[in-house]
Order: sequence, then C-alpha cells, then structure tokens
Amino acid sequence: MKASKQIALVAHDAKKAELIHWVQANAAALGRHSFWATGTTGKRIQEACPDFVVRPLKSGPLGGDQQIGAKIAEGEIDILIFFTDAMSPHPHDADVRALTRLSTLYNVAMATNRTTADFLIASPLFSEAYEAPTGGGDGTPGT
Ligand code: PGA
Repeated sequence: MKASKQIALVAHDAKKAELIHWVQANAAALGRHSFWATGTTGKRIQEACPDFVVRPLKSGPLGGDQQIGAKIAEGEIDILIFFTDAMSPHPHDADVRALTRLSTLYNVAMATNRTTADFLIASPLFSEAYEAPTGGGDGTPGT
C-alpha cells in the first residue's frame, strides 16, 4: 500500500451528513489521497465540498457497493470508510454484507463508524507506505 491511498467513501442515508462533516473536518489530511464513492454519497460530498475530488460510482442500491467490492477484489482500494446505519433495514443489505466481507478478506482498512474513521486517519500509516500482511484474498492466513 503506497503512502497515497485509494479510499472508498460510502454512507447510508441517515449517516451521509456525518460522513460529509468528517470529510470537511479532515480535508487537509485527506487531500493527498484519491477517492471513490457510491453515487449519492459522492454527489452529496461534491455539493458540500466542491474542491474535494471524488469519483462517483453507481448508487449503492443500484450496484455501487458491488462496484467497490470488485475494486477491492482487484486490489484497487486500500481503505473503506462506510458509515452504516445500524437501525434501518436496507434493500441492498446483501450487497453491504458482501462489501464488508471482501474488505475483511483483502485486508482493507475499514471504518463503519466515525470513531474508527478518526482512529484510522490519526494513524501514521494513513499517510505512509504500508506492507499489508499476506492473506489478502488468496485464502492463506495473515502473518
Ligand atoms: P449511495 O449508496 O451513496 O448511492 O446512497 C450508499 C449505500 O450503499 O446505501
């Protein structure tokens, strides 16, 4: 994993404002990295932060979570920030589970709430090169 990270941003509807606030609060630290987002999350971030460059994919319920999962499987995402709404059912829960499963399998650093995202961004590894343990995706245990 290079010092400049590929980061995926996703938030369920009830958590979008919280993710936008997190992006705004951490704009300086996020600046050197590259971003993907599911459709509505990316659109809302771009509206709130016009200078923040994020590449939007499809909306989550229309396949955006699966697009991010495919990027993870291809080794194209280092970090997933996915603020989930644990209080509501979602029509694409299966896609969400698949995305978090692939993140675990491929050793993607994943935050599903603000506190974990704060811990991630406070880590020196957030802006340094990092050699992930083996075990990403090939079925072998990590070291
Ligand atoms: P959205 O998708 O950014 O298009 O709302 C997020 C989600 O998976 O619910």
